[in-house]
Amino acid sequence: MNQNPIPNSFREGPDEDGRFGIFGGRFVAETLMPLILDLQAEWDKAKTDPTFKAELDHLNTHYTGRPSPLYFAERLTAELGGAKIYFKRDELNHTGSHKINNCLGQILLAKRMGKTRIIAETGAGQHGVASATVAARFGLPCIVYMGATDVERQAPNVFRMKLLGAEVRPVSSGHGTLKDAMNEALRDWVTNVDDTYYMIGTAAGPHPYPEMVRDFQSVIGAEAKEQMLKAEGRLPDMLIAAVGGGSNAIGLFHPFLDDKSVRIVGVEAGGKGLEGNEHCASLTAGSPGVLHGNRTYLLQDADGQIKDGHSISAGLDYPGIGPEHSWLKDMGRVEYVPIMDTEALEAFQLLTRTEGIIPALEPSHALAEVVKRAPKMGKDEIILMNLCGRGDKDIFTVGKILGMGL
Ligand SMILES: *Cc1c(COP(=O)(O)O)cnc(C)c1O
Repeated sequence: MNQNPIPNSFREGPDEDGRFGIFGGRFVAETLMPLILDLQAEWDKAKTDPTFKAELDHLNTHYTGRPSPLYFAERLTAELGGAKIYFKRDELNHTGSHKINNCLGQILLAKRMGKTRIIAETGAGQHGVASATVAARFGLPCIVYMGATDVERQAPNVFRMKLLGAEVRPVSSGHGTLKDAMNEALRDWVTNVDDTYYMIGTAAGPHPYPEMVRDFQSVIGAEAKEQMLKAEGRLPDMLIAAVGGGSNAIGLFHPFLDDKSVRIVGVEAGGKGLEGNEHCASLTAGSPGVLHGNRTYLLQDADGQIKDGHSISAGLDYPGIGPEHSWLKDMGRVEYVPIMDTEALEAFQLLTRTEGIIPALEPSHALAEVVKRAPKMGKDEIILMNLCGRGDKDIFTVGKILGMGL
């Protein structure tokens, strides 16, 4: 049942309370409310301040390496025998994923607010690395909360964070994954309200984070649109992106939401299948509830207890989803589908061998959906996929599964 009114534009949300239809909002402890409102006031000023934009643009260009290229995957296109496949190469960013787009924006806000201590949560470790990186760049101490399970399976990123001078605090509650790390970070924020800035890593959490993170990540879609118009003289027919908390996906999607000819597909982690609990498909198999300060689709049991999901990729292992995606799903503007661990693993190997690009396991999920769709589309059609992270961090996981003696 759809309880959301049809908007004039899919790009106009959220409202002043942070709502996308019935989703989003600001469900936080009373002690956090003044901080959230402070942050919102600063963000409202910053987003229309040309100095802020100029500073961020400069860092994006000279520190991250933007714009990231738009790449026509010629051999993969030939191999699949259907639609032309283009990648937005955000895996080439400094630190290896799209996470830096958001962290640079947020550290500039933290500085404007006079905050002297950065905290962050991380799953795969990519957001932790990006946070530790910008904290080093701006000379601020950084504490990263990371699930104990993730600390083990993402060892290279743990080393990177430590080398960058961050303190990594393992969290062993729950399954020791991203949800637990985020709970712990929120707890830290409540107890250190005066000097601490909480750098959330995805387009979730209480308002204004979903909007703010989306806007920082929308550089992906804005660049891609311009690049595609230059390369092909028209918009793509389909966008595909992997969805964990939803930041790289909404970053690609948002600038295209009002382009009716563009079909949009978000890919969730189907893990070992949707029948049991071994997946992270909150939109396909979850139901609305409140987690980490916003109302959204969640993996929960009949009593509203949050379930710990599973995915082969730590970055998709989140039982919630950014509220704007929940709204876009209910409005029918974006289609969300699950991809299984095994399918992602196959896509990972396919891209590595046909294009010489080792992708992260997260965008390997998006790629597996490309593999399904491209052959059914015409050769004159275009798919644009966000290649949001590189696979360096995943080679040990994949090597082990493939029995390569690692
Ligand atoms: C963190 C991460 C994701 C998942 O996060 P989103 O907010 O959904 O983008 C996906 N891919 C990569 C490479 C990541 O590092």
